[in-house]
Order: sequence, then C-alpha cells, then structure tokens
Amino acid sequence: MTALTSVSGFPRIGSNRELKKIIEGYWKGANTLDDVRATAKQLRTKHWKLQQTAGIDLIPSNDFSYYDQMLDTAILLGAVPARYQRLGFEQPEDTLFAIGRGYQGDKGDVTALPMKKWFTTNYHYIVPEIESSTQIHLASTKPFDEFNEAKALGIVTKPVLIGPYTFLKLARDPQAEELEFDRGLINDIASVYAQVLSKFGELGAQWVQFDEPYLVLDKEDGDVELFKSLYAKILPARDGKVKLLLNTYFGHIADIYETVNLLGFDGIGLDLIEGKDENLAAVDKYGVAKGTTIFAGVVNGRNIWRNDYAISLGVIDALRTKTDNIAVSTACSLLHVPFSTAGENGLEPQVLKHFAFAVEKLGELHDIAVLADQDDAARRDAKALADNQALFDGTRVTPDQAVAKRLAALTADDFVRQPARAERQRLQREALGLPLLPTTTIGSFPQTKEVRAERARLRKGEITRDQYDEFIKQQIDECIKHQEQIGLDVLVHGEFERNDMVEYFGQHLNGFLFTKNAWVQSYGTRCVKPPIVWGDVSRAEPITVAWSAYAQSRTKHIMKGMLTGPVTILNWSWPREDVSHELQTQQLALAIRDEVLDLEKAGIKVIQIDEAALREKLPLRKSDWHKKYLDWAIPAFRLVHSAVKPTTQIHTHMCYSEFNDIIRDIDAMDADVISFEASRGDLVVLDAIHDANFETEAGPGVYDIHSPRIPSEAEIEHRIDEILAKMDVNKVWINPDCGLKTRGNAETWPSLEHLVAAAKAVRARL
Ligand code: GLN
Ligand code: ZN
Repeated sequence: MTALTSVSGFPRIGSNRELKKIIEGYWKGANTLDDVRATAKQLRTKHWKLQQTAGIDLIPSNDFSYYDQMLDTAILLGAVPARYQRLGFEQPEDTLFAIGRGYQGDKGDVTALPMKKWFTTNYHYIVPEIESSTQIHLASTKPFDEFNEAKALGIVTKPVLIGPYTFLKLARDPQAEELEFDRGLINDIASVYAQVLSKFGELGAQWVQFDEPYLVLDKEDGDVELFKSLYAKILPARDGKVKLLLNTYFGHIADIYETVNLLGFDGIGLDLIEGKDENLAAVDKYGVAKGTTIFAGVVNGRNIWRNDYAISLGVIDALRTKTDNIAVSTACSLLHVPFSTAGENGLEPQVLKHFAFAVEKLGELHDIAVLADQDDAARRDAKALADNQALFDGTRVTPDQAVAKRLAALTADDFVRQPARAERQRLQREALGLPLLPTTTIGSFPQTKEVRAERARLRKGEITRDQYDEFIKQQIDECIKHQEQIGLDVLVHGEFERNDMVEYFGQHLNGFLFTKNAWVQSYGTRCVKPPIVWGDVSRAEPITVAWSAYAQSRTKHIMKGMLTGPVTILNWSWPREDVSHELQTQQLALAIRDEVLDLEKAGIKVIQIDEAALREKLPLRKSDWHKKYLDWAIPAFRLVHSAVKPTTQIHTHMCYSEFNDIIRDIDAMDADVISFEASRGDLVVLDAIHDANFETEAGPGVYDIHSPRIPSEAEIEHRIDEILAKMDVNKVWINPDCGLKTRGNAETWPSLEHLVAAAKAVRARL
C-alpha cells in the first residue's frame, strides 16, 4: 500500500484563464451569469479529473472561488456587512462581486472591502468585516454543493475551508481597532464549523480539511486559548463519520505543535518546505498521536522548480521514525503556481525539464508516494529517482564572473546617499519648485485594449518595431497633454510600453527567462505572470531611458522616471533556489543602479523606484524579520540610488503596505518620497508615520484604484484632511493609491480631476 497523496488546493483560474475571461466578460455585460456558472462548473470538473488521473487520493473541493476564498468564508458564515445586503441583489454572485470590487450603479454606491496580501504570497484576500450586528450562522451551501457536484462525477473529494482561527484572526471590526473575540462570537463561529463537519459526515466525505495558516505566526496572548476553545467545540462534530485534517502552511507550528498533537486531529498538515527544520524538530520532540496522520507537505506550492526527491524522501524517512501514518502532500495550495508547463514551447526542453507547475507537481506527489514505500534497494533501481537526481547533479548555469567582481568591490559608502535627507529635501524644494501638496500618479495609465492589441501585433510580427514605437509615443503624448490639462504637478509617461512592471525589466536583464502562459492569480480575476530567474543577473542595455527622455522632451513640467526596485523584481519573479535571495537582490540592485544613473544623465529630475512588493516577503515570524530579510533588502534599495545628485528626487511606492510595524525600516530606505496604499485600509499607518517621526515625504493614496468607482471631490478632500490631521503638510503628496493600468480611461480621468480639484481646494484654505 502506497502512502496517501493529498493536494491542499488547486488553481481555479483555468489553464487559459477561462474563469478570469468569463467573469470579466460578465462585468462588461458581454455574457450572462449562467455563462459564468457553466464555465466554473467545467473548470471544476476538469481540475478534479486531472487530479484523479494523476492518482491523487485526497482531491480538494471548495478550493474553487469566483473571487477569493476568504470572501467565500465570510459569506458562508453570514458575515456580509449590511451595506452590501442593502444593495438588494437577487443573485448571490452579484453581492459577492460588489463586496470584492465595490459597486456604483442604480442599486447604490459602496466601496469594496479592503484587500490584503495573503501571508507572504502575492495573492490578495478580502478582509472580512464582523460588525456588532453580524449574526454568524451557516449562510451558504457552496462547500456542500461542490462536494456533491464532484460526487456526482464519482469523485469523493476532501472539502477545504479556511479554518475558524485563521478567519477570526484576519477579520476586522470596522468600528474598533481590534476585533474582540468574545464568548458569543467564538461559540457562533465554532458552531458553524461544527455544523459543516457533521453535514459532510452525512454527505459521505471521508476527510475535511481546515486550513489554519495563521498558526505559523507568532502567538499573541490568548491565541492558544482561542484556538483550543474553537476546536474543542468543533472536533466532537466528527462523530466518528468524518476525519478532520488541520492543515498549516507558509511556515512552522513548532510553538503550538504539542497542543495540536494532543487535541487528536485525524490529520495534521505540516509545511516541510518553509517550516521544515522546526516542524521536524517538533515532531521529533513530541511525537505523533496514535490515530493521527501527518500530511507531509514536501511538494512546494510556491515555486516552479522540480522537486528534489532525495530531499523529500529524507523528510518522509525522518517522519517514519515517529509514525507510520503519513500522507504525501503539497506544502500549501497549488493556487500560487501556474497551471502546467505543457505548451511552454518557447523554452528549450533542456530548460523546461527543470520546471514543475501545478499539473506536474501532481505527478511528483505520486512519484514520491511510491518511492516513499520502497526500501533502499528498490529506490536504487527506481528510474523515477535516478531521472530526478540527474536534474540536480552538476552545474545548471555558468556563473557570471563580472557580476561577482562588481559585488565584491562594493564598500559601505556605496550603500549611503549623501547629504542627509533633511538637507536634500531643502535642496529639492528649491530645485523643483513644486507647490504644497504636490499632485502626482503612481506611474501607469490605463492599458487599453488598443495598447494591448498593438503589443500583440508587434509580437506576431504584424507591425515593425518603429511602428510600435510611434504608437507608444502617441500614447505618451496624449497622456501628457491630458495630465497637463487637468493640472497634475509631477507627470508620468504612462508606462504604455510595459506589459508588466517586472517582466518588462526582466526582458532587458541578463539571467531571466519568460513563459507564455504561466499565470498565477493575484486578486479577484487579476493574474500575474512572473518571469524566472535562471542565472546571474546584470543589465543588458538601458531599459527605460529613451522613453523617459522622450516624455520629458514633450513637457515643461517635471517628468518622473519609473523603475521597479530590486526587491520587488525578485519577489515578483520565480527566484533561483541554488543561490540566496540576498545575492539575487544585490545583482538586481546593481542593474537598476545603472539605470538610475542613466536616467539622471538624461535629465530626469524625479525618479521613482517601485518597491511594491517589499512588505510581501517579510518573514512571518518577527524574530526572522531583520536577520532573514530586512538586513539585506533595505541596503539593496539604498545601493540602487546612493550615487545620485542631492537634487535628484528619489521616490518609491509600496502596495497594500501594512507597514506600520516596519515604518522605521522603510524610512531607512532613505528615499525622498514614498507613495502607498492607504485608501482601502485603515488609518493606522498614518498614526505610525506620525509616531515614528517619519522623515520621508509621503503620499498615502487618496482613493482606491482597485475599484472602478469614481471618488467625488468632497470624498478626496475629506481624505486629505484626515491625512493632514496626522502629517506635516510640508511632507504630504497627493496621489491615487497605486498605478492606473488596470483601470479604464472613463473612470481614471474624472477621478484624477477630482483629485487635483480637492488638492487645490485644500491648498486654498491652508
Ligand atoms: N509604477 C507602477 C504602476 O503604476 C506601480 C505598480 C504597483 O505598485 N503595483 O503601475
Ligand atoms: Zn501599488
């Protein structure tokens, strides 16, 4: 008998982003809700069958979602804020979309619920709100419907839900700073999960999986108690009919493993990639309860590289010294990896053989499960193992000696910009002559159908590079004229030439590879296609200089140059696993530094270096923050801009930046100005800026660009007043909260007009 194989979750967007396309079509009125439902059903069927064919024993259901699994959980629990219910939609999907993306129409006008990054991934979840009036109850049949749907196909799935602990820890109370976990709330939530469990028992499920990734975070006072009281009420609902897998991922649970083990779960899912050493040590120390199966997360759900079977088998063999009950599992949901390497014919077979996306990882799970049950002699003869080992023997890429030499020659001075920031800010005020509350945008303007079509034409060879460049220049010209008309202070060229803020840079750097179709869901229907770091990185040629110089030549206003920073390029790429992230980031920093200096030489006075994803990869455990990340990530950013003139103004930008806890580290990046998201979240970050005596000038976003709604002038003015209540007016910038490329022109320009008008109105009364 081979060990069980289990998948935590499977990508739902479809091999060709079918789900994205059909939902966006529905939003535009091009197809109906029934079309959406039909496509969704086809995708679920296809994905279940794929897993069945690959020999997976425990195939997930309810991992499907129209928008986000956290939002689904909120709906399941009846936690839909009253303002969305009041819209009075007949179809539940319409309410769901209104919560996810806001709604403006004949039924009302509501903003979306805030969105945050899902742990250290680039996936964003909707932050649920639990109001004091919220009546928690079992309010949806989605998990059961999907289970029955699979059952009708002859597949008994393992339903997956976000667990109650994680749900509560991530939910917020809109009226209070922190959600209070009173008895009533804990009981109500636990009782819904208990109902879910017993209902699945009735429906014939063998296993149910509750995901509790929040367990890999440091515990605060009361956390362990909360966890225990929730599950003390939930576990009895199994009633001998169904098994409960407590699944954890994105790190280790060593600090609570003993408790979890004593509670008597049927399965405990451990991340043996990101939490490997600590989790193994915990199992070694506390053992495994009789009747508990360890779901060994050995297949990485967050990389695109082939699994090293020898390492996975080593982990399983180590666990076997403690228990015989082992299932071979993905370390987290495969939601975070692309669909399949099939069709990536732009990559050489010699390269492609090093990659495993979701579908290929299913095969790996199966291989590992088979090998795990073989003795050493059988393994020695196993072709699967020998073939796998061959991938890791020898050198995959030749190191770039020139890059190594440049890095070795760096000194401490290369990481410090002169003079000190306060002095620079004075010099820049004189040199740039901007008004108080200067207005600007984050860089990109709507990437219309036209722009994308023109790029596709270039790719297919239907137009020449010159024709394409002419087209982009026209776009830039129009965008500049429009910005001048509405009166923005610091202009941008609009980033029309870029498909993506990381891929575009990667294409001009040595060491990167690109895929055709390796999309990963980022938020709602949005997907990203990260490039792959394959070898040592260096700048192959100037990247943005010609475009920025052209744009500056078309206006008397200040034109901001637009770059992506090294930490973000790495975080939004698939990094190498044979060298450290620190080294890869330093290589990238040198490449972008060359670009910064070339922009300056070309007469660009304001340069924005986006570090949209800096917060994203902050380790989940506080004790790792500096050692494992900030100690090299922040200096890498400084290396990028340390050599510019004092009067050159360096901006940076961060998305969804819950960065009140690392506010000092952000100040230490030593940028002159930062813009960041703050319009959809709370105002906590403004307090942090205030309390930390934040030196960097800052533009907390004054409206949410992730929603198509148009903010009114009054709304933005109110928002600026909120900002001014916490910040020194001399340090405030007025901007949207992120780039505008995903928006349409129809909403973008009126929104920006309101933004400029609001800034002027506030200036007038200062
Ligand atoms: N400059 C980029 C843009 O405007 C920044 C995008 C981002 O922060 N994600 O698109
Ligand atoms: Zn952003």
